[in-house]
Amino acid sequence: MRLVLLGAPGAGKGTQAVFLKERHNLAHISTGDIFRENLKNSTPLGLEAKKYMDAGQLVPDEIVMKMVGEKLAEFSPDDGFMLDGFPRTVAQAEFLEGKTKLDGVVLFKVNDEAIVKRLTSRAVCKDCGNVTNIHEHDKCPSCGGELYRRDDDNEETIRKRLKVFHEQTEELIEFYRARNLLLEVEAEGTPEEIFSRVAGMLKS
Ligand code: AMP
Repeated sequence: MRLVLLGAPGAGKGTQAVFLKERHNLAHISTGDIFRENLKNSTPLGLEAKKYMDAGQLVPDEIVMKMVGEKLAEFSPDDGFMLDGFPRTVAQAEFLEGKTKLDGVVLFKVNDEAIVKRLTSRAVCKDCGNVTNIHEHDKCPSCGGELYRRDDDNEETIRKRLKVFHEQTEELIEFYRARNLLLEVEAEGTPEEIFSRVAGMLKS
């Protein structure tokens, strides 16, 4: 199965990807994670991407598409995967269409104010990537690892990222609806509640 996880930053794509990976044995390809990994290793790609990430803007299409093209080339035709955070523009979606056939696009729907609240309290585990709430935990509840806050999870940058989502990514909803691929999920509630909605949709 090949899926795209679509939704605003903070809609819960990464959290649901962990469940989906376990249940359906799908590889998780997160373009944001690839950029952050490159940044940690100070690669030219990471340093270039940082300028845009810090500003809450999108990394230019050519850079992202080259990176994703290389990543997808690692998969055999029968391998399943889910793309998290890609595509984010129509140009990226058209590029992806030329590379692979998708089985579905899961759209996570959350309102902007709920997202601002979620992201201003988001913490991520350095060891296992688990996403949690900084006000509820001082260590990762899953593995005991150290938690960190993402540089772009401050209110000013969050609002810019939401604006970019509405201006540049939201049109992908129509793009995929027109292709009969869209699966819409109400993404407020606990991660388990949301996953049971996702699982139900994928089954039918
Ligand atoms: P994310 O972890 O998905 O929230 O992504 C963090 C940041 O990485 C975004 O705000 C963008 O600056 C950059 N980024 C990730 N994926 C893409 C993409 N598909 N196109 C452009 N920029 C991206």
